[in-house]
Amino acid sequence: MNIRLTFFTAVLLLSINCYPSGDYNINSLPDNFEEKAFEHVEQLYNIGIRQAGSPNDRRAVDYISNRFRRIGLYLDIENFEFESYILDECNISINALEIKPVHIGFNPYGSAENLTGKAFLVDPAKPENISALDLENKNIFTTKRIDYFRLLREKAGMIVYVSEKDFGNISHLHGAEFSCKIGGKSERLNSANIVGIINPELQKNGSLIICAHFDSYRNSPGADDNATGIGVLIELADFFFKVKNRISCSLTFLALGAEELGVIGSRIYVREHEEDLKGCVSLVNLDRIGGSDSMILEVEGGVNNVSDIKGKSQISDDLSYRAWEGLSGKWRIAHSRLLEPFMASNIPEWYKTIIEKSISKLDLEIVRAQNLGADHSVFAQAGIASTSIGVMGNEIHTPNDVIENVNKKSMLKSAELCREIILNTLIHYKFIEIRNN
Ligand SMILES: [Zn+2]
Repeated sequence: MNIRLTFFTAVLLLSINCYPSGDYNINSLPDNFEEKAFEHVEQLYNIGIRQAGSPNDRRAVDYISNRFRRIGLYLDIENFEFESYILDECNISINALEIKPVHIGFNPYGSAENLTGKAFLVDPAKPENISALDLENKNIFTTKRIDYFRLLREKAGMIVYVSEKDFGNISHLHGAEFSCKIGGKSERLNSANIVGIINPELQKNGSLIICAHFDSYRNSPGADDNATGIGVLIELADFFFKVKNRISCSLTFLALGAEELGVIGSRIYVREHEEDLKGCVSLVNLDRIGGSDSMILEVEGGVNNVSDIKGKSQISDDLSYRAWEGLSGKWRIAHSRLLEPFMASNIPEWYKTIIEKSISKLDLEIVRAQNLGADHSVFAQAGIASTSIGVMGNEIHTPNDVIENVNKKSMLKSAELCREIILNTLIHYKFIEIRNN
């Protein structure tokens, strides 16, 4: 055996282990992955703030769909229309004392624009007492120091944030009658979900989804949140496209719109794809993966009795196509039926094993997260085993979410974890050919 042949044999043997191999190594991402993914971040960042429904939002749609097309994915641009409430005025009086709220949580899609009731004051100086209070259907007055979702989880009826100064002025008015006058109108806006599919003809066998949202928060250029997720999504699509012949199911790469206004794109996708999702085995979401701090992971399995209702959204019809946060950030939705689907979680054993295996294979340090409120939760409440990957450390949802703060190494690590989870899921479902000899 000559030296050259020995060398080739060694290379061949090295490339054959328990995972599939061949012309393209599926066990790790290519060397140029990091740079290529970052190029997409630069391109999206250069578009400017990509608020859902804006012209820049559409530019992002064009960019991503062109990239998906160039890779060779089966492409579908699913335009959608959604409704958002524009809050023009909000005046409240308690015991004839006029106050102007900083932010209000209510349901703008109901009929009530003149709300009255008893004011329930929650003192921000004692946040630890919240869980001891019965807040169900209460009209809560507090200040920004108390987390909105914490109040929502207690099924608060209406949530009014006032300034610290105003809170001081009304602190003696617990239980007093208030009246609230809200002025505004609903507006229709457009965005899109971009669907790129590998092996669309094999969808009958099953499917996996990898997703990321492309819109940015209203005042933020959204470099980390979430141009990083999209950059990696595009390159992962390219990566898996090259091994598509060895995969016997379909892989959907989903760039979701209007996440920041209340996971609208994912809600609409789930509603429109109920049938397709019955065969979807799992989903990985990439959201803000360019920080320099801890890597976070939220794993959700869906609601109880998953098998009976897989693919079916638990979110009520009347809320499906409506924003849960205003374009100018002055209001958020408060709705007693809203959080319940997102609270239930039932992670299947096989999925837990796959996640643990993937993390330990890559030797990653992970912080487990809860209630990230990102797109994956929408799929989880429809019975799909879902994971969201993120990396903390950047000031997202602010003008400081700039490209200079994006950590490319974190993007690559997140991409590797996503690849590993997908690969292990394909192996678990025997959707990929394994060559052991
Ligand atoms: Zn995000």
